[in-house]
Amino acid sequence: MPEYTRTGVLTRHDLLQMPTDKQLEKGVAFIECVQEIPCNPCVDACPVHAISMKDINAPPCVDFDRCTSCTKCVGVCPGLAIFVIKVKEDKAWITLPYEFLPVPAVGTCVDALDREGNSRGPGKVTRVVKAKKTMLVTIEVNRSLAMDVRHLRVQA
Ligand code: SF4
Ligand code: SF4
Repeated sequence: MPEYTRTGVLTRHDLLQMPTDKQLEKGVAFIECVQEIPCNPCVDACPVHAISMKDINAPPCVDFDRCTSCTKCVGVCPGLAIFVIKVKEDKAWITLPYEFLPVPAVGTCVDALDREGNSRGPGKVTRVVKAKKTMLVTIEVNRSLAMDVRHLRVQA
């Protein structure tokens, strides 16, 4: 059995796809949904048909070249399992679903948290959007954290 079934936390080794640096510079949806569950709102939400599944139970697969990083899929995922990641030079921008209150405003300094909730360094909110089912918050972090930061905590 994979370790995440015991810990509840995915590691990089569990992830089914990995974009290239070039694809990350363009910006891509990164889906951390690895289990076989009957769910597909992400597929229906994508306006350019960049997300596919072999069947309703299969994990989703993103065509990184087709993805326009529009973030529509992030806002419909009931599992809060989709992130849009974009990098440029030494910075990364991670758009994540956010369901806490108050929602941090643009410019707010935050702790950038990894999948286990550990602080990995400072981040700054650069965009806040209300999506269909949740808020979407984009944070700017160091590029080296692009594949590790998946949540935020507003600094006290
Ligand atoms: S970010 Fe937009 S284009 Fe990319 S997979 Fe999600 S819905 Fe499709
Ligand atoms: S909507 Fe979310 S939970 Fe459902 S299949 Fe897509 S990524 Fe997985």
